[in-house]
Amino acid sequence: MSHRDETELLQPVIESNDTVLASAMLRLAACREKSALDNLLVELVREKMKGAPVALVSRDSSGKGKPSILAVSGVNSRQQKQFLGKKNLTLPMPSSVKDEESPCVLLIGVKDEEPSKELILLIQMYHSVHELLARSTHDRLTRLFNRHSLQETLEHIYGHAPERRKGARSQTGRERWVMALLDLDHFKQVNDQYGHLMGDEVLLAFSDLMLHSFRQHDRLFRYGGEEFVILMGDISLDDASRVLNRFREQVARFDFPHSQKLTVSIGFASMDLNCPPECVLEKADRALYEAKNSGRNRVEWAKEEPPA
Ligand code: GH3
Ligand code: MG
Ligand code: MG
Repeated sequence: MSHRDETELLQPVIESNDTVLASAMLRLAACREKSALDNLLVELVREKMKGAPVALVSRDSSGKGKPSILAVSGVNSRQQKQFLGKKNLTLPMPSSVKDEESPCVLLIGVKDEEPSKELILLIQMYHSVHELLARSTHDRLTRLFNRHSLQETLEHIYGHAPERRKGARSQTGRERWVMALLDLDHFKQVNDQYGHLMGDEVLLAFSDLMLHSFRQHDRLFRYGGEEFVILMGDISLDDASRVLNRFREQVARFDFPHSQKLTVSIGFASMDLNCPPECVLEKADRALYEAKNSGRNRVEWAKEEPPA
């Protein structure tokens, strides 16, 4: 959806003189952050539904995992489990950002009620703003997080560094972050032999494979071109190495859209919170360089400190 769509959504509401709804839609349109948008939606829907409890919930795509509550209003933490198990009015939420492919639903604590036109308009506005926000944080082609988001995520992680250092578990345990830098091998040949459009299809297939291979709380970014970054939290270096090697093998076995095999080289580094993000990136980059230099289709990790 574009900014025009938002204006189109608003126009009939403004003309209808429904100032309450128009103001609610404008407030949604003014949101500049996803969690603020989620929270405002549940508040507005609750007002609209005369105080009925409301929750915005996402389930993992298999449908088996525990649902996670993105925003809630009118249900306290003790009542949440019971509320989620109840027969509520359940509205599927539009979702198009791959990273958040887990289907979302809006649960409203009312029975046998059809969603009103106003409610549907609020949800459409939410979706439109959600799309706009996603565009600034996600890569257009792969819909993974973009480089700008990587910067923000790193700032967030490092912003919490002092607290983490004070924590009971040290960085030598499982409580650590790992940054992996991935680069497709000989990708230029794909473009040269099959064209740029096929190259795009291959990048898309690769990012899909990433999404299906890593844990939901690992953060996946397109760093640029055919380079990607993965941030894995709470993982030991040994486990990271195992997980990344398993992915590397998966890539090598995968049938890509151009009907050819493709490999990936990976460098990773532990995110020492005393060493700034640029330094961790540099370490991962050196490890990636080593992986390329030792024949590609390899995973290497940064063992030494950068040369002085
Ligand atoms: P290496 O194994 O050393 O990494 O070799 P390579 O060919 O993968 O590396 P190189 O840096 O020479 O080429 C990367 C290519 O990726 C060149 C560029 O045209 C292509 N590329 C970058 N972004 C995109 C994109 O969005 N779409 C497509 N189709 N190609 C892209
Ligand atoms: Mg490259
Ligand atoms: Mg490459």
